[in-house]
Amino acid sequence: MRAVAPDLPHTVFAAMRRGFFGRCPRCDGARLFSAFLKPVDRCPLCAQDWTLHAADDFPPYVSIIVTGHVMAPVMIVLGSMTALSTGLVVGIALVLAITMLMSLLQPAKGAIIALQWWLGMQGFAVRPGKVEAGVE
Ligand SMILES: [Zn+2]
Repeated sequence: MRAVAPDLPHTVFAAMRRGFFGRCPRCDGARLFSAFLKPVDRCPLCAQDWTLHAADDFPPYVSIIVTGHVMAPVMIVLGSMTALSTGLVVGIALVLAITMLMSLLQPAKGAIIALQWWLGMQGFAVRPGKVEAGVE
């Protein structure tokens, strides 16, 4: 595969933003995911090998922490509404929490893969801008 010269991100936040939005953190020119939580094996444009990541359980941890912090005030407001029954409050909270968790999983995984790539963690042996791991 012949790789194009990538438009490398200048900061870790730029790389994580690309991953958060499901774009290749290295070149921003192709999709990072081939399925919901399955990254592509290799970027079709810049040839970065994304099988080197090891995001593991960290994306669900991030999603749970963010959802919990957002849902706490929502639960307090819902709980203070005396017009709503307990069952309705629990139902609304469950739907909101599950929706938020599921919608944060892929962005969190993309951002964490980008962070690992930027920091040269796991299989990404060296930092971008130098000799990169996983690029042929
Ligand atoms: Zn790429």
